Amino acid sequence: MKVAVIGAGTMGSGIAQTFAQCDEVETVYLCDIKEEFAEGGLGKVKKNVDKLVSKGKIDQAKADAIIGKFKTGLNTIATDADLVVEAALERMDIKKNCFKDLEENIVKNPDCIFASNTSSLSITEIGAGLKTPVIGMHFFNPAPVMKLIEVIKGANTPDETVEKVEEIARKLGKTPVRVQESAGFVANRILIPMINEGIFVYSEGVADIEGVDNAMKLGCNHPMGPLELGDYIGLDIVLAIMNVLYTETADSKYRPAPLLKKMVRAGHLGVKSGRGFYDYSQGFKNKVPVDKQ
Ligand code: NAD
Repeated sequence: MKVAVIGAGTMGSGIAQTFAQCDEVETVYLCDIKEEFAEGGLGKVKKNVDKLVSKGKIDQAKADAIIGKFKTGLNTIATDADLVVEAALERMDIKKNCFKDLEENIVKNPDCIFASNTSSLSITEIGAGLKTPVIGMHFFNPAPVMKLIEVIKGANTPDETVEKVEEIARKLGKTPVRVQESAGFVANRILIPMINEGIFVYSEGVADIEGVDNAMKLGCNHPMGPLELGDYIGLDIVLAIMNVLYTETADSKYRPAPLLKKMVRAGHLGVKSGRGFYDYSQGFKNKVPVDKQ
């Protein structure tokens, strides 16, 4: 199987690594809007694969075989892909244009499956106007580690495509969960409002940052508290998903916390910007809650 991953950022590079680690995948095209972005994505994969070798999880020959499957470049290299997984930015116009260009100008294989890794956008709308049906193939971060793939059926996605993508997910060692199209699907519909609620709780002065996180870690056995998890996901992504839930449902229970909006406007996006609810200037492990600085 030849797989094209469109977008070589956080998710795209992890998804590409996941496919390259699968024996049934012979080629992974890792594509971005600039060749150096695609090469940067491959650089992240190389670092991860080197770590697997140093931890003794794979040998050097396997690592070389994984990296040897990669071809990096612009989207135009994906001509003979059997499966496209789009992991570009979370914007409807970008996703629609990507697939339109792939269908009209790039992919020559008539049986190629078009999948989107969108976290929250409508699969039906992404696929509107295309001849090829689009399906949601929603990986979780970090993609090589997390076992879940939500498989989202849009209004025009045939059952056959759903079954094929579930089979591919199993071959990757993942567990597919079939989801009907709905804002936030399953995991984010539950998780992201919980993070948003954690931000409300902190901003109302109910507890400090560590207090909110410790309550959920020690009281509910969550591996990360809602504020540190929001930082890890990216507060801009958390806000984008809250906005989709809010506008799709018009239900006030999904209103984004004002502090979340303020932090995103200030560029305090969490781990990726070096500051969110925690300061990461001393590294991820030595993070300091900003209300203790
Ligand atoms: P990111 O910003 O790290 O990466 C996006 C990449 O897409 C960038 O390298 C950008 O240059 C590239 N890109 C933009 N337009 C493109 C185009 N037309 N063609 C090719 N590449 C293009 O973002 P991310 O966090 O990897 O998120 C990507 C997608 O995955 C989004 O839809 C997001 O909602 C979804 N997602 C994110 C997470 C997460 O935890 N970050 C989890 C699941 C799904």
